Amino acid sequence: MDWGQRNFKSRLVVAGGKMVNIFLSNIRIQDLFGKVVDFKGPMNGGKSKGVYNELKRANYSGFGFLAVNSALNSRDGANISIDGGREGSIRALSAMRAGEIREHFIAARDLVARSRGRTVDYQGLTLRTDLPLKVVAMDEKNLFCLDELAAAETLEFLQWAKSEGLYTVTSGLEFDFRQEAFAHVRASYRATSFNINVDPVCQALVEEQVCGSAAIHSQRIWSRAHLQRLGLGEFIKEDFGHANKAHEKLFSGHVAAPYFDKTVYLEDEANGSVGYIPVCDSCSELPFKEKTHDLYAQFRGGLDEAAVAVIRAKGALENGIVDFLLNQDEGWVRNDGGLFVPVSYHKNRIGTFSRV
Ligand SMILES: [Zn+2]
Repeated sequence: MDWGQRNFKSRLVVAGGKMVNIFLSNIRIQDLFGKVVDFKGPMNGGKSKGVYNELKRANYSGFGFLAVNSALNSRDGANISIDGGREGSIRALSAMRAGEIREHFIAARDLVARSRGRTVDYQGLTLRTDLPLKVVAMDEKNLFCLDELAAAETLEFLQWAKSEGLYTVTSGLEFDFRQEAFAHVRASYRATSFNINVDPVCQALVEEQVCGSAAIHSQRIWSRAHLQRLGLGEFIKEDFGHANKAHEKLFSGHVAAPYFDKTVYLEDEANGSVGYIPVCDSCSELPFKEKTHDLYAQFRGGLDEAAVAVIRAKGALENGIVDFLLNQDEGWVRNDGGLFVPVSYHKNRIGTFSRV
């Protein structure tokens, strides 16, 4: 990256939030060919809106696009939606891996090039044949980076799109609800030309008013019913007051989800009992983060079944944390022939960490 680009990039980032799009719209679409623009920020913060605006702008500039969402995102289905479709929606394909996006793009581009009518159908998407297919969008990029191989495939796809001279627009989370790197998504950033931080308004209530600071975290909240179902009602008493998408203040009914909650909930699995709100650093809450790390530290030298049973017997909270630490999907503690020890990691080829 030369200095001109570097200065330009910092201007984009400093502007923050929605202002950034004004800067981005000053760059012609054709000047973004061979570039990757990534919108990143907390959940429900307007990342998809950034993608949506760029795709609309591509059409107005005389170019066609192909939009792809993760097949794991059952909330929006095969769409890139703003506020669940209330403020706009663009039809998209669903894919599990980035390699599929590349195959779809090549097939759709060929179809557009050889079709005679004004529009052509590609797997349910209506593509204009008079607009050359030059833009590709990948929503929920973090869900295409859940393991090392998937992230390597995503990186490869982005590099391919650049070499093909496409304008690639991506969006996704950089961090999970624990404010830790979301799986292997960071490996994809080396292919990004411009990172655009979308910082929405913190929706937590402070002294009965919306906080209003720039939000940088995804606060996970549980409904009280979910808290009771998990038997943790006595441990998290304080409500997490916040404003919902309709800007209504909710003073009760939800709590901050504990640090030891599972990392990934799929939308239908969450079923209204788990939600996210954008919050600033001072409003964010991660109950039992210290306690989880204290219990984890006890596994460093290895614990046998009997020692684990002693911890579990202390109560529902300890039992819940041990369940989390021992969950194979989470990667904290493994059973090594009857001895419970920390999972070991090695540095991998894409610059993240994989289990040994
Ligand atoms: Zn705040």
